[in-house]
Amino acid sequence: MSNTIVNEMKIVKAESSKIQDVDFDNIDFGRVFTDHMFSCDFKDGKWQTPEITPYQPLTIDPSARVFHYGQAVFEGMKAFKDDKDAVWLFRPEDNFNRINISAKRLAMPEFPKEYFFNGLETLLKLDKEWVKKGDGNALYIRPFIIASEPAISASPAEEYKFMIICSPVKAYYKDKIKVVIAEKYSRSADGGVGFAKAAGNYAAQFYPTKLVQETGFHQVIWTDANTHEYLEEAGTMNIFFRINDKLVTAPTSDRILDGITRKSIIQIAKDNNIEVDIRPVTVKEIKEAAKDGSLKEIFGSGTAAVVSPISAFKHGEEVFDVVEPENTYHGMFKRQLMDIQYNIAEDKHGWRYKI
Ligand SMILES: *Cc1c(COP(=O)(O)O)cnc(C)c1O
Repeated sequence: MSNTIVNEMKIVKAESSKIQDVDFDNIDFGRVFTDHMFSCDFKDGKWQTPEITPYQPLTIDPSARVFHYGQAVFEGMKAFKDDKDAVWLFRPEDNFNRINISAKRLAMPEFPKEYFFNGLETLLKLDKEWVKKGDGNALYIRPFIIASEPAISASPAEEYKFMIICSPVKAYYKDKIKVVIAEKYSRSADGGVGFAKAAGNYAAQFYPTKLVQETGFHQVIWTDANTHEYLEEAGTMNIFFRINDKLVTAPTSDRILDGITRKSIIQIAKDNNIEVDIRPVTVKEIKEAAKDGSLKEIFGSGTAAVVSPISAFKHGEEVFDVVEPENTYHGMFKRQLMDIQYNIAEDKHGWRYKI
């Protein structure tokens, strides 16, 4: 193995690539990983020299605090390849800022910007063959930070590991989803960690989601923990409603994650002269809009699927169908967003970042 130090980064290249063993037409989301990974340890009060090594299992002490207290945060982003083989990221600075917002809430040290971007760029250059061209193909990028210190005392760790791993993904054309509006369980609460991409937020969603899946639905629409009267997120996505020709979504808060897809969709809607209302959305008004026919669309937004249209929702014992018009907003937003991501359309807001 060659072992070089570039810009204060140690690089150990994989002896051979695993890429020829991968069937890119048949990959499940997040199961296949590229040849390399990035890691950087925090100890003695500072981030140490970052490394890129072949993708491989970690050796970590069973007493590492992440296993006991869930001190872990992550990000989700994608790289895209254009027709000329150039690789692009989409608003990566927002992911960088957000992982540090999440880290701060979980009492973890912030990761330095130069390390983040240098690591990401070097990793993507090494593994660029894994970013496939074609509509919907992308490399999903997962930065994360875990408390690695071996000590089971219930306090913030003094040692952490920051890593980036990458997984090739295909477009997924999932069926429209049917959702249940939460009346008992909550994803987040005022003063809590709902705005952070904390690993434990996901673990806490699995059980209520499993319960609705046992009744033939797919996801939970999360409501505010106090009253369950306000609609806040769709599973692990932000949520949008189209009422007549207006787009409506809840404001971000302690409880609602500041999604990059969400804010990009809001901007694209404005660029298309669509009126956008950012305000609390009640269960009551959406039920009424479903009854009087003014509810035209409901969809989730997030990096993995871009948009995820909802075909029906349940509240109590009542089920409401969402009958979409032929030309949907979510279809248009997805197309316009992906055209920017794949370097097909003009990037008037400066969202693309070239590797
Ligand atoms: C990551 C995430 C989103 C979507 O954020 P994007 O930046 O658009 O991917 C929405 N809600 C929750 C709870 C999330 O964790």
